[in-house]
Amino acid sequence: MTTTATATKNTVSTDTALKSVIHVRSAPGGHWVGDGFPVRTMFGYDDPQVSPFLLLDYAGPRHFPASDTPRGVGEHPHRGFETVTIVYSGEVEHRDSAGGGGKIGPGDVQWMTAGSGLVHEEMHSPAFTESGGTFEAVQLWVNLPARLKMTPPKYQTILSSDIPEIALEGDAGTLRVIAGTATNVKGPADTFTPVALWDVRLNAGKGTVLSLPDGHMAAIMVMAGSIVVNGSLVREAEFVLLDKKGEALRIDAQKDAKLLILGGEPLNEPVFGYGPFVMNTREEIIQAANDFNAGKMGRLSPK
Ligand code: MN
Repeated sequence: MTTTATATKNTVSTDTALKSVIHVRSAPGGHWVGDGFPVRTMFGYDDPQVSPFLLLDYAGPRHFPASDTPRGVGEHPHRGFETVTIVYSGEVEHRDSAGGGGKIGPGDVQWMTAGSGLVHEEMHSPAFTESGGTFEAVQLWVNLPARLKMTPPKYQTILSSDIPEIALEGDAGTLRVIAGTATNVKGPADTFTPVALWDVRLNAGKGTVLSLPDGHMAAIMVMAGSIVVNGSLVREAEFVLLDKKGEALRIDAQKDAKLLILGGEPLNEPVFGYGPFVMNTREEIIQAANDFNAGKMGRLSPK
């Protein structure tokens, strides 16, 4: 599905207030999630500035040789938020104790609401395991407001073909709307609070001006290439956080760039997290651990 941007709700004139840059952060050293996901954590839930997001793990790009044993991360729980997995290269298969499951490949997105709690496994698909190849993905954790932390688990597979692609003016590149609204085009992800998630490709030497609401969090993960955003240079494997104040993002690509743009309404609630559980208080975390240990988040059936 391709849409040409003519109406310009999110493409704004440069006299709209720019969101100023708070910081540009390089990818830290990596660690493994299970044996399938070599990740660099760009931010975690100790940072209140990124609300409504809790964590961004950038996985790869990394070459995996062909194998007959699927790699990934086995059964583990979550409660209190959503995990969003965007695959750029390779294939991931998921199944959970609430009956959700599916396989996603390049361009596809999995939006899983852990809510009151579930256990799941996240593995390379059998086909990707067998063929080997380059793996690249992002996993984002999206927080749920206190009143929705115990909402029933839910699972959305969002295939690439479901994601509208906007051609940016002046052959600047493309913007795929996974969540939120860009240039009047709404993305397919069903979110509980306002969240924007845009997969953007910009051509070297070209630029665009996009808009996220005043008062909303705004950030860009640069997976490839380099950009100047609102005056700051941001290079490959770097993350830029912008101020909530203002609306406009003026982005110019110095090299062909692959970006993930994040935006959302901050929750302004206490965050108390421990490992795979993110709640509002210590007592709720203890309850989550007890409920998991008592089997209340379910178990995966044997394959
Ligand atoms: Mn998980």
